[in-house]
Amino acid sequence: HPVSELTRQQAQVEVNQLREKLDQWAKEYYDEDNPSVEDYIYDQNYHRLQDIEKHFPELISQDSITQRVGASASTKLEKITHTPPMLSMSDVFSMDELVEFDKRVKKQLQTDDVSYNVELKIDGLALSVVYEEGKLVQASTRGDGLIGENVTANVQTIKDVPKTLPEPLSIEFRGECYMPKKSFADLNKKREQEGQQIFANPRNAAAGSLRQLDSAVTKSRNLSTFFYHWVSTDEDVTTQVEALNKMTELGLSTNPDSIEVQSINDVLKFVEEYEQKRDSLPYGIDGVVVKVNRFDYQQQLGNTVKVPRWQIAYKFAPEESKTVVRDIQWTV
Ligand code: NAD
Repeated sequence: HPVSELTRQQAQVEVNQLREKLDQWAKEYYDEDNPSVEDYIYDQNYHRLQDIEKHFPELISQDSITQRVGASASTKLEKITHTPPMLSMSDVFSMDELVEFDKRVKKQLQTDDVSYNVELKIDGLALSVVYEEGKLVQASTRGDGLIGENVTANVQTIKDVPKTLPEPLSIEFRGECYMPKKSFADLNKKREQEGQQIFANPRNAAAGSLRQLDSAVTKSRNLSTFFYHWVSTDEDVTTQVEALNKMTELGLSTNPDSIEVQSINDVLKFVEEYEQKRDSLPYGIDGVVVKVNRFDYQQQLGNTVKVPRWQIAYKFAPEESKTVVRDIQWTV
């Protein structure tokens, strides 16, 4: 049924069903690193819930998955509090929705002079790293956004994360921890040979490998990182482009494939280009991220309880199902 044709009672019934389903899938995905459905199925159901809640705002409740980051800091690892919170991101699937985002941004900022930085959406899990006087002292996962898991010892084993910075800065960076496609293929091959359960995708393998109690296991999994978020008030760094440049200068791994655009139409070219290049990249991406470039504008736009209003993910159409059917005995 189109949402506009639902009665309130039908809406309530469907909302309950969707929440139950989505909560279960989120638990499998975030907490157990073992999803039972493809992302696009989750996304379709999530957007249906969001649409119904938009149409029947009285049905929104604080514990709805649309109002909170889906995961919890549930492993036996020590907990870390995030200030500011590590949020999720709104996603869109069409150019029209991207145009709407652009209109909303410009309307709220009351200017048409807005540039965006467009980046690849790396398919891993969010990671925060904290340096004190240039030394890596803490690393944590996003968790529920407010409370994450302490994975410092594990991150110490990731080769491309600098253990010291060339300047004695006390600073936090955020980015994505991911498992390169080659590491993923090697890992699953090994697990299969050893009769262990294989990981569904590199994202879940990265999450499972980072959230380990034994850092030797993490080390053996060959994880990598891309940093994209500057958490500081350095007056010399006032835009996303400057932040990426400065992080690169400080020796952090940043993704080279990003572009500053003046018009939202240019985002589409980037999307099309990387939809083509996607398979040839050595790591997984599931879309592109469009960010308002100026930090003062980002501040002005602010956040909802769940997502920043200054950035949006444009997700690629789902790849063909990659489910491998094995061990089928054909009898004639
Ligand atoms: P998300 O992963 O879609 O987007 C937010 C995250 O993008 C950020 O936290 C950050 O870690 C990451 N990111 C990657 N590149 C980035 C960049 N360049 N700049 C900024 N951030 C970047 O959102 P989410 O809330 O973590 O998860 C929701 C998504 O997870 C769903 O859309 C769905 O695809 C998937 N999911 C799937 C299932 C399932 O059962 N298959 C269950 C739950 C969630």
